[in-house]
Amino acid sequence: MTCIKRPAGNGAHHPKHMHYHYFTLEQRDELAEAIRARIDEPGMNAALERLHAPDYGVCESCGGDIPFARLMHNPRLHRCCRCLNEL
Ligand SMILES: [Zn+2]
Repeated sequence: MTCIKRPAGNGAHHPKHMHYHYFTLEQRDELAEAIRARIDEPGMNAALERLHAPDYGVCESCGGDIPFARLMHNPRLHRCCRCLNEL
């Protein structure tokens, strides 16, 4: 794996491609649980709010999907693995 794990950006980007993520309701519940378990960490409150936005889980750079497993690991991600590595 070449993915570099680092905190998500400042969210100042304007998403070019708005679309709903492929998450199921069950996956959103799982993510909400993961976020609530770590709600004391910086950015987790914002992540919990973003979870209900249509573009949560969508890369703000390329509009691609951020894999569920990666969001479970870091619910604050704003970008997919490829875009994080290109920054
Ligand atoms: Zn991307």
